[in-house]
Amino acid sequence: MQERQTRQKSIIYDALKGLDHPTATEVYVRLQETHPTISRATVFRVLGGFAQNGRAVELRLAGKDVRYDYNVEQHYHVHCKECGRVADIFLPVLSGIGEEIKMASGFSVEGCTVEFFGVCPTCKEKIS
Ligand SMILES: [Zn+2]
Ligand SMILES: [Zn+2]
Repeated sequence: MQERQTRQKSIIYDALKGLDHPTATEVYVRLQETHPTISRATVFRVLGGFAQNGRAVELRLAGKDVRYDYNVEQHYHVHCKECGRVADIFLPVLSGIGEEIKMASGFSVEGCTVEFFGVCPTCKEKIS
């Protein structure tokens, strides 16, 4: 039983890595092709567990479904209002911002969510 759970976890983790900021449903759909025995409930539970123990990050962008990111390094996201695509942004200009907030507020800052949104290049082409 324990071994099966460990195996399922690594299968789900691989699927997460192979997708681009997927929702739990997207991971589940992807796994249906290769591992149809893994249930939707298992996928949701395992992804939630990853977020809890720091193996993945939960993204809540614009009130849409929760997306998961296997990249736990500090980075930011920009998402497309048209198609929902999410892209990573690594901006050194924002690193150290926690220190400044600490100085301004006295809070010890543990993290932050920065959300950018707009229209992705593919959708921009379609519109124009
Ligand atoms: Zn788009
Ligand atoms: Zn990301």
